Amino acid sequence: MPHYDHLCKKCKKSFAVEMKISEVDKKKVSCPECKSKDVTRQVTNQSFTSESINRYVWDKS
Ligand SMILES: [Zn+2]
Repeated sequence: MPHYDHLCKKCKKSFAVEMKISEVDKKKVSCPECKSKDVTRQVTNQSFTSESINRYVWDKS
């Protein structure tokens, strides 16, 4: 399962969340530090590109 890096806007903590690709846009992620839901997914990681997601799905099928 891929890890997704997140950054809490409230306390600026960065953390990784493990989840399925199908959950990425549905799952409510909260900060492990302050429990805030005001978190952003870091898109700098190359695993976030749609190309690699497509490749990942392809590899699993
Ligand atoms: Zn936080």
